[in-house]
Amino acid sequence: MKDTLRHAGKRKQLVEVLIQKEIKDTSVLAAIAKIPRHLFMDSGFEDHAYQDKAFPIGADQTISQPYTVAFQSELLQISKEDRILEIGTGSGYQTAVLCELGAKVYSIERQKALFKKTKLFLSKLGYRPKHLSFGDGYKGLKEHAPYDSILVTAGAPFVPKPLLSQLKINGRLVIPVGEKVQVMTLFVRKSETEFEKHEFGEFRFVPLLEDKN
Ligand code: SAH
Repeated sequence: MKDTLRHAGKRKQLVEVLIQKEIKDTSVLAAIAKIPRHLFMDSGFEDHAYQDKAFPIGADQTISQPYTVAFQSELLQISKEDRILEIGTGSGYQTAVLCELGAKVYSIERQKALFKKTKLFLSKLGYRPKHLSFGDGYKGLKEHAPYDSILVTAGAPFVPKPLLSQLKINGRLVIPVGEKVQVMTLFVRKSETEFEKHEFGEFRFVPLLEDKN
């Protein structure tokens, strides 16, 4: 599959939809206007790629809805060169958005096949995250901590402690918390021990699973 002017036109329309839904961060919108989302999905689903919908990507997983990707990315308030940890690499679409925002991206995926496929695919597309890791996101990624921001892209039944402790002071954790439905939650680290908590309404994610290994 290729990226064509027709695809670029559809991306522009998607960006308009996101603006109507009150996404304001121009760098996030520019990233979505640029990234060929259809290439992150199986070729048969190309027509669905620029609808504002989540979509199955195999192995019971989904590529997040563009609105959700934009909403989470906006909440992170990323500056260039920020060190960001993403939990749940999945298709790599959100990873690509973080790369476009100029972040140094670390990302963890617990499904081996998806991890391998996405690693290869991102490099083919020319994206260079700092580190893609196969493992359990509940533990974070201590070797490269602390992070300016941590983003969880699966529904977490509770907030994993290691993620809070791997944040810099003033660092931000964006995490959907809940079992069947998740409340989008932002934690800002104010000191070693204090965190400010903000909630932003309901979303639906595939579950953040505990490691079986
Ligand atoms: N950011 C992805 C979203 C994929 S869905 C995208 O843009 O496509 C969530 C992903 O989280 C799935 O790929 C799932 O396998 C992964 N996941 C679930 N539990 C996990 C865990 N404990 N550690 C790391 N990844 C996990």
